[in-house]
Amino acid sequence: MEERRIWILPEFLASQIAAGEVVQRPESVVKELVENALDAQAATVAVTVHGAGKRLVHVVDDGCGMSRADVELCIRRHATSKVRTLEDLHRICTLGFRGEALASIAAVSQLEIRTRRPEDAIGWRLLAEPETEPRIEPWAGDKGTQVLVRNLFYNVPARRKFLRSDLTEFRLIADTMTRFVLGHLGVRFLLSDERALLFDVPPGTLTERFAALFGEELAQRMLPVEAEYEGFRVWGLIGHPECARPSRTQQFWFVNRRWVYHKGLSHAVYTAYEQLLESGMYPVFVLHLEVDPERVDVNVHPQKHEVKFDDERQAFAAVLRAVSEALGRHHLAPTVALAQDPVVVERLGQGESLVVNRLTGEVLAPEQIPSRRWTGQGVGHRTPGTSPRESPLFSVGVPAVFTELEQPVRCWQLHNTYIFWETPEGVRIVDQHVAHERVLYERFRRQWDAGERLPQRLLLPLALRLEPSTYALLEEFAELLTRLGFELEWETGREVRLAAVPAALPAGQEERVVTELLAALHEYRQLPRRTSVEEHLLATLACKAAIKAGQPLSEHEIRQLLRELQQCTLPFVCPHGRPVVIELTREELDRLFERR
Ligand code: ADP
Ligand code: MG
Repeated sequence: MEERRIWILPEFLASQIAAGEVVQRPESVVKELVENALDAQAATVAVTVHGAGKRLVHVVDDGCGMSRADVELCIRRHATSKVRTLEDLHRICTLGFRGEALASIAAVSQLEIRTRRPEDAIGWRLLAEPETEPRIEPWAGDKGTQVLVRNLFYNVPARRKFLRSDLTEFRLIADTMTRFVLGHLGVRFLLSDERALLFDVPPGTLTERFAALFGEELAQRMLPVEAEYEGFRVWGLIGHPECARPSRTQQFWFVNRRWVYHKGLSHAVYTAYEQLLESGMYPVFVLHLEVDPERVDVNVHPQKHEVKFDDERQAFAAVLRAVSEALGRHHLAPTVALAQDPVVVERLGQGESLVVNRLTGEVLAPEQIPSRRWTGQGVGHRTPGTSPRESPLFSVGVPAVFTELEQPVRCWQLHNTYIFWETPEGVRIVDQHVAHERVLYERFRRQWDAGERLPQRLLLPLALRLEPSTYALLEEFAELLTRLGFELEWETGREVRLAAVPAALPAGQEERVVTELLAALHEYRQLPRRTSVEEHLLATLACKAAIKAGQPLSEHEIRQLLRELQQCTLPFVCPHGRPVVIELTREELDRLFERR
């Protein structure tokens, strides 16, 4: 049996390691110690903190333990059992690999390690303090390892002062524990403070653990994801769009079980959700990405929070596909079909936009961008720079939802607001306002992209007297409005005459629509932006011009509306992300009536 597993990394390896501060706060101590426990194959990891970890961090595991020789070495810099060669460094399967954590902790705290290997009759205890020789003595205890870190930064007052309140420091620790719970499903985790046990999560499925952390109700609204693409396996849970939140706090990425922050991966998720969410709302998700360790570099960030892939675009495409498919399976968005055409999507980075092949993740040059965008309508060329949001991808699979309408089914209007009809599975209900909004939005968008203007001249130009600020706003947006089909005649002072409006606007309501549109533009300028002005303008105009709830419709008008909706690229959601169609299944009805 090998007595010594740990060795000191030779200089040529140590110098390859992304250097930086490993221990910044109690949370980093917890993270490093739990990572060590997981690397030691522990089945249970118990963490106790006192004073939010400032006074004590105590981590107990039932893993492989250390021999006496290893205990001696483990607190030396670059002492590790996890990396031997340069190749190992490029193929990291463990959470740790730098041999720096215990050394860094030993330099700024009073450290105690108690450990016993399962095969040894007796274990060892190491006591270390900065500036003194560490002591090692025999220890009789359970198999596994306990690490106790007392009085963190007691010898570095400047660092101690830098720490935040106990409440904040504790919250950071709890966040880190949450990530371990979601990342390592087979391990039992316990977290306690000086007063109580805060959680004890047994091994379980991702859904069970998610429910334990965030509640049964939210867990019920999560959709499973599972797909593989080009060697990237993506699995986990994504939230129903209705559960979206105004912040990104309930988003988790794990790459080979390591929690990471990766902008590109998250962006792929947002791209899949596009138009399903209102701006400023973010999806909830817990996603795992698994890939051959040789294809991911984890040695890029001192806290190991970031990773790089050998092919970032394939990773992007894998996530986009997996999440789109999952949303599609639940009829939230049409499914990603294996379209033959390269399918494009706009990727909005910081200020820039690029066009990416949705299936391969490849970034396309302007001449590579396919011009056929509107299935069945043969609309022509897209000039680079216009939004390719409405990609043909989204048209695949849509008609299935409305096929029953091709037969002469009867539809009804309910409360002059909802339209419903019977389907083989149950009943489908459409909100007339959002449906019309969707139809108009796509019409405006199509005309805009094709550079078509369809102005409808008014018999009598409409005179608008405006507040100075509104007048200025109108001037600012004049060019865009003209492109939409508005014709404005500028009078002196604060008067503007409206000579023509886009043909799709409801007759007699021009003034209301324009006033509401201006108010919305006002608001837009004050809000943090996610969508482009043009996108916002088109969506707002569609919303303001759409038929309202409460408006009676004839059977003919209903059918016309549904026909137009059926031809939409994205008929399920309005441009602001609200649902257009819902279905109540026979099963759900039976359940409501408690019929078995
Ligand atoms: P790294 O994890 O990068 O190797 P650390 O300083 O965190 O570096 O740990 C040094 C070594 O100590 C590890 O490589 C491992 O062999 C040993 N070790 C640390 N914690 C434990 C533990 N809980 N159980 C068993 N061995 C451990
Ligand atoms: Mg470590």
